[in-house]
Amino acid sequence: MPISQRTQVGIVGAGPAGLVLSHLLHLQGIDSVVIENRSREYSEQRVRAGVLEQGTVDLLTEMGGGERMKKEGLVHYGIELRFGGKGHRIDFQELTGGKGITIYAQHEVLKDLNNARSAAGGQTIFEAENVSVHNLNTSHPKIRYEKDGGAHEVICDFIAGCDGFHGICRPSIPPGVIVEYEREYPFGWLGILAQAPPSSEELIYTYHDRGFALLSMRSPQISRLYLQCAPDENIDDWSDERIWQELQIRLSSPGWALTEGAILQKGVTGMRSFVAEPMQYGRLFLAGDSAHIVPPTGAKGLNLAVADVRVLARALAHFYSTGSQSLLDEYSAKCLRRVWKVQRFSWWMTSMLHRFPDENPFDQRRQLAELDYVTSSRAAAKSLAENYVGLPLE
Ligand SMILES: Cc1cc2nc3c(=O)[nH]c(=O)nc-3n(C[C@H](O)[C@H](O)[C@H](O)COP(=O)(O)OP(=O)(O)OC[C@H]3O[C@@H](n4cnc5c(N)ncnc54)[C@H](O)[C@@H]3O)c2cc1C
Repeated sequence: MPISQRTQVGIVGAGPAGLVLSHLLHLQGIDSVVIENRSREYSEQRVRAGVLEQGTVDLLTEMGGGERMKKEGLVHYGIELRFGGKGHRIDFQELTGGKGITIYAQHEVLKDLNNARSAAGGQTIFEAENVSVHNLNTSHPKIRYEKDGGAHEVICDFIAGCDGFHGICRPSIPPGVIVEYEREYPFGWLGILAQAPPSSEELIYTYHDRGFALLSMRSPQISRLYLQCAPDENIDDWSDERIWQELQIRLSSPGWALTEGAILQKGVTGMRSFVAEPMQYGRLFLAGDSAHIVPPTGAKGLNLAVADVRVLARALAHFYSTGSQSLLDEYSAKCLRRVWKVQRFSWWMTSMLHRFPDENPFDQRRQLAELDYVTSSRAAAKSLAENYVGLPLE
């Protein structure tokens, strides 16, 4: 017999979606248990996203987990689009009425959230094995898992599937319920983390004949840089010297220099757009990457995960205070409306800035015209800025 435990909301996955949800529920007096298959150390060291929208920063601050982010995060009020060797700044502050973004690494957000959950007596079970979800269409769905050789089950009122794209929640929904919309891109990103002071105060998105490049950063000492590459690029073919050479070529601009440094980490990430509809089955609610993936060009993945669970936390709080499921019934449609707008933006940024293997000279001229338009028309720049700093949350 498994060791049984009762909670109100069982959450699978201790990524940004799962931990933000757990803490938001706690602040409303709702009990939750988070089940995670990795170790805490692993998730707190894994380098992933780093750009936080204003709405994400505001929510993390309201939740009480924003002190270190306020101190260590880098606030940016613009980005540069570079093409033809020339830079063009998109001024977010001026175009959006004072909004900006904050550069603060995802693993630092996770450290802060894990600390906030521990301080509040929250329960996160790390290194859970063989996690599975059951009875989704009943009023008491269950999460089962194994830990240290013992079998456990958590009996819940609701389950939140916050277990990312490769998790078990979405595949546990019976066939035919979910429609999946997907686009794979014919390229990937080769990303490095380098011990080098960022060569620009703001992010630089570069369109180049040899492919896209992005200069980003994690702190005043650490740069994060990316190169467009083949989706199946073998990282072993890229010596540190070759990576810097290619970055120097693609990012070059008169009077500007790229500072190099020791490469601390490198890897290749594939790029896809994916949406699962609806984001609910019975008492299982999908949130974050378990329901949708965006290509990283718009820096939206983490932000979208946080936006979903904000809607879900409100709907659950409404249920527990009134007994009405009306907001839970609206959850999927409400999230998907925003998800699709963010998908559009991420696809658009990706299409404008990357070279496509099957493109012809017309496509290239069109991309350059688009960049020229975005950087010379206030209306177009304003649209980019509004999306980049984050569309309204609800
Ligand atoms: C290499 C890489 C780079 C990225 N860079 C960027 C970027 O620059 N900008 C950006 O905006 N986004 C980026 N992203 C995307 C961003 O990191 C995600 O959108 C974000 O992490 C989504 O949060 P989430 O909580 O929904 O999912 P996740 O962060 O994936 O969290 C899911 C959690 O569930 C756990 N889990 C999985 N399966 C199980 C299971 N069976 N049982 C229990 N737990 C399970 C996982 O271990 C994980 O902790 C990147 C992603 C990757 C992989």
